[in-house]
Amino acid sequence: MVTVRLENIEKVFEQKLPTGEVSKVFALNNINLTINDGETIAVVGPSGCGKSTLLRVIAGLERPTNGNVYFGEKIVNEVEPKDRGIGIVFQNYALYPHYKSKGNLSFFFKLRKVKEEEIDERVRVTAETLGVGFEELLNRKPGQLSGGQQQRVALGRCIIKEPTIFLLDEPLSNLDAKLRERTRIELKRLLRRFKVTTFYVTHDQVEAVTLGDRIAVMKSGVIQQVAPYNEIYRHPINMFVANFIGLPPMKFMDVQLKGKKLVGEGFEIEISSEVANVIGNEDRKLALGIRPENIQFKMTQEAGYYPVKIDVIEPLPNEGAKYLFFSFKESVEAITKADLNFEGNVGDTIYVWFDPAKIYVFDKETEETIVAQDKVFSFTNA
Ligand code: ATP
Repeated sequence: MVTVRLENIEKVFEQKLPTGEVSKVFALNNINLTINDGETIAVVGPSGCGKSTLLRVIAGLERPTNGNVYFGEKIVNEVEPKDRGIGIVFQNYALYPHYKSKGNLSFFFKLRKVKEEEIDERVRVTAETLGVGFEELLNRKPGQLSGGQQQRVALGRCIIKEPTIFLLDEPLSNLDAKLRERTRIELKRLLRRFKVTTFYVTHDQVEAVTLGDRIAVMKSGVIQQVAPYNEIYRHPINMFVANFIGLPPMKFMDVQLKGKKLVGEGFEIEISSEVANVIGNEDRKLALGIRPENIQFKMTQEAGYYPVKIDVIEPLPNEGAKYLFFSFKESVEAITKADLNFEGNVGDTIYVWFDPAKIYVFDKETEETIVAQDKVFSFTNA
């Protein structure tokens, strides 16, 4: 068991162009992150934001351009990947095609001339850990296994070495939706049982929520926020995080402070004096953010409700909900959440109300959060 600490990590890739010039990619920028002993951090972010590079730096497959990687108290920058006590599973499992699953699991030990009985015992314990049906896979080669089965073998190959750190890079992304769901839960059980320090790269928010004790949101090589899902969801630090975390995503609308109101195109919201004071300046360019679940609607007009027309209806039986998309004045799109048995149709008028206690307000220029539901981010009150 070990704590992983990343200190001021920077990674710059340099590529020589045919013209002789050198092009630089700043893949990681001043990353500071601690993965506590036994904790799983799930890192999410758009394609190319540096998730895999960060994992490869922890693994020792990439050297940081600057900064230090600590395992416990020790700086491991110079330690070879094979000596770091890590277990890695990538998206493409890269099993040895000529070995049966058992051979894939035991390869590492055969190489180190561990006794047959000990290897057999380790394979047995690993098979037990990986649960029902795993034994049957041991005598098959990768070509005789489905994607999901190969994925379990790859996990087995990682676990059997009893790593002190798991590094998982999109390990479920080759699986179909159903298998992915099952394997996600299996993996969760496994992580809970082993309590191994884990760094989990994914672009799938559901995976991140299920598996991550904390979630790190990255953008352009920079960690934007690290916190448990609920905290990030309720109190995102900026517009990027607010939009990235939450499904369907938060929608933004331009608003202006006028006295104790936020006025947008075709609507206005009463706010408290406290919120108005924090915003401070009526000239400040603001974006209002509201999550679909915080827009209420009625089928008939009531005071404070605005008429809008439904554009699209998206039923999500899994969530027991229908999402209703609508626009204000053509340009501003928003979403509200209805019960699955909602009987309205596209083109119908509904009447919406924004819950003032659940609104988010952002500075449109810096994109920083000013107010997130019940929390005021006073540092933005410049
Ligand atoms: P994805 O979700 O698409 O896998 P990612 O968040 O894992 O993306 P990385 O693979 O870490 O992103 O890449 C981060 C940036 O570094 C990208 O701009 C990528 O093109 C660049 N990059 C990664 N590896 C190299 C390399 N070996 N040489 C040059 N540039 C690289």
